Amino acid sequence: MTVRRTLPQRARTLIGAWCFVDHYGPDDVSDTGGMDVAPHPHTGLQTVSWLFSGEIEHRDSLGVHAYVRPGELNLMTGGHGISHSEVSTPATTVLHGVQLWVALPEQHRHTARDFHHHAPRPVALDGGEVRVFLGTLAGDTSPVPTFTPLLGAELTIHPHAALTLTVDPAFEHALLVDRGDVTLADTPVRPAELGYLAPGTTTVTLANTGDEPARTVLIGGTPFEEEIVMWWNFIGRSHEDIARAREEWMSSANPDRFGAVQGYPGDRLPAPELPGVPLKPRGNVR
Ligand code: MN
Repeated sequence: MTVRRTLPQRARTLIGAWCFVDHYGPDDVSDTGGMDVAPHPHTGLQTVSWLFSGEIEHRDSLGVHAYVRPGELNLMTGGHGISHSEVSTPATTVLHGVQLWVALPEQHRHTARDFHHHAPRPVALDGGEVRVFLGTLAGDTSPVPTFTPLLGAELTIHPHAALTLTVDPAFEHALLVDRGDVTLADTPVRPAELGYLAPGTTTVTLANTGDEPARTVLIGGTPFEEEIVMWWNFIGRSHEDIARAREEWMSSANPDRFGAVQGYPGDRLPAPELPGVPLKPRGNVR
């Protein structure tokens, strides 16, 4: 599949607590078979799945069996440990969406595994439409709780229209453009880029300068001040945190940590080898 990873980047590790942004597709997967990710672990983070088209079958070690569908948030809290599988369904022809991760703050990074689903109602705006899947924007608030202040919303913008949104000045924001000729505060943002707005702004202005509808995802949050170590599917604070998580996934020493996924027809994913040098904590370059 075509995947554009826009976070982390060399110059930036986090936007608020958002620490990973993958934008994939649109890919016609009716011939290739689509997505098939065998059971794999997570720790120290939440995963946010948001689709524009297609359908993904999710199974996890909490016992959740769910379908990820366009316009519906599926938020999985890894906490101390979870495992899950993700498989696009036979009904999927075009797979297209974003996969986002949220770093958990120190006091909550070992929380219990959890799962939330929310289908936000589309809110019509002068110039477009918004679906708020996390946090508050344009008068709509997601009921899904977060461990740090966060915003996540899909915004569509009509051709040759602009949106001005009131935002929390304590937040930093980033804009992912899925399609269309979009500017953020008068600066063009292309697909595979991430437009950035530092804290201190009270409005975000998006414009669609093209003839086709534009679609974007706006994320934000209060700056995450902790440094993190991110490796494979794990987030910790030290090399030792990661090495322990890897060991507990690969061995049978602590099977309860990540649990087991029921119903996936195949083996779980082995972790790659750790690099030969210690993993270093990273934060934002300031
Ligand atoms: Mn995963």
